[in-house]
Amino acid sequence: MTVSDDVRDTPLADETAALDIGANNLVACTTTTGEQYLYEGRELFQRFRDTTREIARLQSLLEGGRYSSHRIRRLYDRRTKRRDHAQDALTRDLIERLYDEGVSTVYVGALTDVLDTHWSVETNAKTHNFWAFKKFIKRLVCTAEEYGMSVEVRSEAWTSQECPQCGSTDQTTRHQDTLACPCGFEGHADLTVSETLLRRQTTVTRSMARPVRFEWDDHDWSGISHPHESPKEQRTDPSTAHHGGNIASGESA
Ligand SMILES: [Zn+2]
Repeated sequence: MTVSDDVRDTPLADETAALDIGANNLVACTTTTGEQYLYEGRELFQRFRDTTREIARLQSLLEGGRYSSHRIRRLYDRRTKRRDHAQDALTRDLIERLYDEGVSTVYVGALTDVLDTHWSVETNAKTHNFWAFKKFIKRLVCTAEEYGMSVEVRSEAWTSQECPQCGSTDQTTRHQDTLACPCGFEGHADLTVSETLLRRQTTVTRSMARPVRFEWDDHDWSGISHPHESPKEQRTDPSTAHHGGNIASGESA
């Protein structure tokens, strides 16, 4: 991603960002400068779950009276390290990007897709375990502080169901990454949540650029552009897409 020099020269302008933290997409972010970022978590979560299963399998093989083994402890250790490494890198990548955008305040919405009722208790437990949410927030706050930004956590679970077009909260349906509403709105669920959260905190005047998606490759979060982020472009009536842009994809219709 390229950032023009004049932007970089004025960090900590009065820009704001809002983050939605989830399990499928670890972080969805929208900024008042019109940027949208998506950090994918599926693969990481999958691997975390695989390791968890392997630990359970090994535990079931333990002889009576034993609670752990060298191999089990090593798996726990590896699982934690891998997660911490990815989270650490994510936090740094994101905060540096926000710094370049001139963001001074970051709002964090807490685990909306995780707290959704359709998630089983078991999945919730695993996900909380995976996320180590408090630890992640702490990491985020510390890194943000380094850059002179402040982080505020908002409990806005309900916005995960809110339609940004008509405001309905009980008519919308969420299927995987898509939030749909009978009024015709359809958008990326997590990006929509982060944008709704942002609009709740501040005025957003700019329209959104095409979202950037990041995947973890064990070392870095590399950005991949996805040309067809939103199939709803065609369906969104420009006259009803407020704030001058297509909320779903961030593109002008
Ligand atoms: Zn609607």
